[in-house]
Amino acid sequence: MKQFNHSIDAYKEAIDLMPGGVNSPVRAFKSVGMSPIFMESGKGSKIKDIDGNEYIDYVLSWGPLILGHANEHVVTKLKETVEKGTSFGAGTLQENKLAKLVIDRVPSIEMVRMVNSGTEATMSAIRLARGYTGRDIILKFEGSYHGHGDSLLIKAGSGIATLGLPDSPGVPKAIAQNTITVPYNDPESLRVAFEKYGKEIAAVIAEPVCGNMGVIPPQDNFLQEVRKITEEHGTLLIFDEVMTGFRVGYYSAQGYYDVTPDLTCLGKVIGGGLPVGAFGGKREIMENIAPAGTIYQAGTLSGNPLAMTAGYETLAALDEDAYEAINQKVDKLVAGYKQAAADFDIQLHVNRAGSMVGVFFTNEKVINFETAKSSNLDYFSQYYRAMIEEGIFLPPSQFEGLFLSTAHTDEDIEKTIQAVRSAFSKIEK
Ligand code: PMP
Repeated sequence: MKQFNHSIDAYKEAIDLMPGGVNSPVRAFKSVGMSPIFMESGKGSKIKDIDGNEYIDYVLSWGPLILGHANEHVVTKLKETVEKGTSFGAGTLQENKLAKLVIDRVPSIEMVRMVNSGTEATMSAIRLARGYTGRDIILKFEGSYHGHGDSLLIKAGSGIATLGLPDSPGVPKAIAQNTITVPYNDPESLRVAFEKYGKEIAAVIAEPVCGNMGVIPPQDNFLQEVRKITEEHGTLLIFDEVMTGFRVGYYSAQGYYDVTPDLTCLGKVIGGGLPVGAFGGKREIMENIAPAGTIYQAGTLSGNPLAMTAGYETLAALDEDAYEAINQKVDKLVAGYKQAAADFDIQLHVNRAGSMVGVFFTNEKVINFETAKSSNLDYFSQYYRAMIEEGIFLPPSQFEGLFLSTAHTDEDIEKTIQAVRSAFSKIEK
């Protein structure tokens, strides 16, 4: 049995210092019945906790580390940058470099603004959409998570779903009533909402692949339908690619599914493990942001040179072959999960988009929040704890996906599949 004494002590200390002992709710391991694990270091696909236990890491800081931990080239470039000062509050060449790369790579982005988190990106994008259209209503999908901005914390996924929380107290009614939600992958419900409110909807915000109720890809022509309906009503389409951007493929999810939104939000991979978010889109819309236009958005540390460097060097290291190589590892892992489920008679549905994988303990096809919730949470938490014992670090929630990096090896995948087989063989039904 693994020992977690140092983590347990650290948590005892932390619980007095920070609400729930953590700086972000899902780190508390609440839904898997464990004391949180405190981490010390990471290298490549491996991560080590403060008790010296080592794991193959499929959390990757919740997505950003697509090159794995402490990538040598990124670390070298960060050291060079830090020697020259950490922040200037004035323009730097690093900002131009990352902006050019993002504009080049993301089909919908002609102009971009850097921010410090995914939450900032989505909050700013919806302000821009409201300011640009002169309308107030935002439509989002049930179980999607777009950060913790007031307008978007309605029927949200991620930690809200993991902890089974109702819509958050503290969001004023007047704001909440300007957010409409409909089920994901359900064009009919979307059409009905547009029949009623179409002229008042400033934007539809969508994760092109949902990653915050587990992983749920769009069905058939769902994204194309969303694009068509929004266009018909003069509503902006915002793709929240904070999770999918530069992860689902070389041209992000919008390239992968060939649907071009008006605005795109980015985060996670774009910062290579440092705090970066971004929103961008059509020039005609983006030029309404201050100081080019009148819609206000700003940030003391936005475009920070260290963060820009980590982002640029990470994205520059990813060519189309790199995505192909990760995808082959994902194919192998998914096949391993399915075989283990068949061999040990476990009801399992596996969803996948690029290097995002969602494993649900259900025999239903998981296409939206309702079906995601059919997953057996007791099986999940048994499997989770067994995987930790086997040295595999997964997101401690049924409603999050797992991620792979270029640093994961075939040996890692084989070891993980063996661990899954061992975990499934022990699930008490
Ligand atoms: N949008 C999506 C799709 C996300 O997955 C997340 C974070 N998991 C966010 C927005 C918020 O990003 P951040 O945590 O950087 O504020």
